[in-house]
Amino acid sequence: MTSRKNILVAVDTSDEAKQVLKTAIEIGNCFDARLSLIHVLEPIVTENSYDLINPVSVEMDEFLFRHAEDFLNNIKKEFAPEMAACVEVGSVKSQILRHAKENDIDLIVVGSHGRHGLGLLLGSTANALLHGSPCDVYVVRIKN
Ligand code: AMP
Repeated sequence: MTSRKNILVAVDTSDEAKQVLKTAIEIGNCFDARLSLIHVLEPIVTENSYDLINPVSVEMDEFLFRHAEDFLNNIKKEFAPEMAACVEVGSVKSQILRHAKENDIDLIVVGSHGRHGLGLLLGSTANALLHGSPCDVYVVRIKN
C-alpha cells in the first residue's frame, strides 16, 4: 500500500468534524504520518461589501476568523495538541487544493457531507476535491 507521510484534514466547524479527524488520526497512525488541519472561511458578501470601508463586515470577518481558530484549537486539544492547524480565507475547494499542492500533501481527508450536504450521498466539498486534487482523497462517511 502507498505510504502516507503528510495528511491534510479538512474540517468545517460542525460536530461531524470530530468523525473526520478521528479517522484521519487512525490513518496517520498506520503510516506514522504528519497530520495538519485546515478550515477555510468563505468571505460573506453583503449589500455593503463593496463599500470602501464597511465596519460591520470587517468586524464580522474578524469574529468568524476567531471562531474558526478557537474551533480548531479546541478540537486539536481534544485529539492531537501537537497538530499544525490553519484557517485560510477564500473558496473552500481552491484553498484546500492550493494548500495541498504547496505543502506536498499526499492524502486529503474530508467528510462525505457537512452542513451544506445533509441528505446527499456526497457533499459539494468532497465532490469538488475529488475532481481537482493533486493527491488521493479519503472521504469519511459521516454518520448522522
Ligand atoms: P459539505 O461540502 O459542506 O457537505 O462538507 C463536506 C466536508 O467537506 C466536511 O465534512 C469537511 O470535511 C469539508 N469541509 C466543508 N466545509 C469546509 C470548510 N469551510 N473548510 C474545510 N473543510 C470543509
